[in-house]
Amino acid sequence: MTDSREMLASVGATSTDEFFLPLPKGYKKGKTRYVIVMGTVMSGLGKGIFSSCLAKLLQDKGLTVAPIKLEGYLNIDSGTLNPFRHGEVFVLDDGMETDMDLGTYERMLDQNLSRANFSTSGQIYRSVLDKERHGEYLGRDVQMIPHVTGEVKLRLRELAVKKNADVVFVEIGGTVGDIENAFYIEAMRELAYEEGPNSCCFVALTYILEPRTLGEQKSKAAQLGIKQLMQTGIQPDIIACRAEKEVGKTAMQKISVFGNVPVERVFSMHDSASIYSIPSMLRDCGLDFEVLRMLRIEDRTQLRHERKEWERWCDFTDKLGKETKEITIGITGKYTSLRDSYASILHALEHAGIHLGCKVNVEWIETTNVTDQTAAKHLAGVDGIIVPGGFGVRGMEGKISSVRYARENNVPYLGLCLGFQAAVIEYARNVCGLHAANTTEVDPKCGEPVIDILPEQKKIEGLGGNMRLGGQDVAIKPDTLAWRLFNKVESVRLRFRHRYEVDPRYIAALEENGMVFSGKSPTQPIMQILELPQHPFFMGTQAHPELTSRPLRPQPMFAGLVAAAIKHRYADNGLPAPEDAVKKMRI
Ligand code: GLN
Repeated sequence: MTDSREMLASVGATSTDEFFLPLPKGYKKGKTRYVIVMGTVMSGLGKGIFSSCLAKLLQDKGLTVAPIKLEGYLNIDSGTLNPFRHGEVFVLDDGMETDMDLGTYERMLDQNLSRANFSTSGQIYRSVLDKERHGEYLGRDVQMIPHVTGEVKLRLRELAVKKNADVVFVEIGGTVGDIENAFYIEAMRELAYEEGPNSCCFVALTYILEPRTLGEQKSKAAQLGIKQLMQTGIQPDIIACRAEKEVGKTAMQKISVFGNVPVERVFSMHDSASIYSIPSMLRDCGLDFEVLRMLRIEDRTQLRHERKEWERWCDFTDKLGKETKEITIGITGKYTSLRDSYASILHALEHAGIHLGCKVNVEWIETTNVTDQTAAKHLAGVDGIIVPGGFGVRGMEGKISSVRYARENNVPYLGLCLGFQAAVIEYARNVCGLHAANTTEVDPKCGEPVIDILPEQKKIEGLGGNMRLGGQDVAIKPDTLAWRLFNKVESVRLRFRHRYEVDPRYIAALEENGMVFSGKSPTQPIMQILELPQHPFFMGTQAHPELTSRPLRPQPMFAGLVAAAIKHRYADNGLPAPEDAVKKMRI
């Protein structure tokens, strides 16, 4: 074979025919099936939640599932997106900055994902253009079809091989009809054609309106959306109807007739109080079995495995809504108007609360108005304080005042990334007497730059992407709060997304004055967890522990904060003390 033929073959092309089948090495046709979830009518319907819950049900049955989110935007990753517009940036262990839906998959599947689980149009085009420059499409004009769509299929099949997946769950961002998503949808049509019958299950997630003035459910918008999908050459196999209330028979029948889908495969996915009740909602209506039947993989399931997993899950969901205690955590933050910007923190608090039988209320605190004098007024009612991650100058002084209030008044405190840095600045200023202490992010010329840009990052500054990103090991100091919370292990893995850190020159002064660095990088002088032993619960971490909290495995720092807040609310006020929480977290 000539070189050029080999090159063409490597991208699935031949010079003589029109078929374009980019198959990665080791791909076994028929091994992996695909569930493809697309939205119609509008975005924001919870495609990620739906898809992750369905994937969980199949995973519980012993199948290997691998999710992938296909984003329409041209950004290479989500790192540069404003959380105020798009929700939080979720960082994966390998450092990829992704959409918050990846967090939903990680939590629901209790799986660590990687860059193979996330793609944007920008990534797809970049890789096609790179291949073109390397001469990999020899002699052919590079086109949306088959080359761009071919790249999409290649990604899915690479994921299938990498994970040895029984089922790849493909979630297409946005809605059918968006120009930027059109090539993804065409790629899915081609995938189903190439893989053959029963290889792909197309799920259309749609929305049933119920205008208050009419008081009845209307399915027209849903019908039109499904028609639009059918115009792309895709016949949905399953239609899942999002709605406020359970979808009635009339609307279901209309959707069934117009969508050409038997009514047994039209499902009501109405609003539910907790996302953790959705798996059982899908199970109760038989959606999981319908998908298995369509994909002809019932024989791959393991009933015993499922029984065990389902019991574990139900032990968790049984606790929902049965909390006997209640606390309020104050979160200071710049994007206080948008809950999505702090989605993982809210989930982590919820996991910890369910674990400890405590309802966790959140009070948002706009720090631009908080000063040392007014902090008590703003924070009076809270049982614990979180200063979350953030970038830039706005509200920083208010965050530092909030830390001071927590420290001086024995209010449980958890500082996340920027909140860790704020705790260092506050301690340096008010305990170590370094009055000019600050971070160079806010004041590049400050007298005592206790928080400064990372030496290792300084070198690569200007080349773009100069943040310390992804999973890093943290060595835990024995006999500290962190050590007890993490159940006496020597090392834990946390996720990071920062550019600044404690300047090592100040570590001695901080330690001499009582601050304990209980978590450090095992290889570099990077401080990663701090605590104050004299305080009931004062902890900061340069990491983002909220990103690794899972429903059945609450993140220990969050559980510790909630336990300390329970004690603060009850025992410290002479109320019957729920000692179990404190004991459980060994704080
Ligand atoms: N802005 C700070 C830094 O870059 C904190 C980052 C964060 O909170 N994610 O180090």
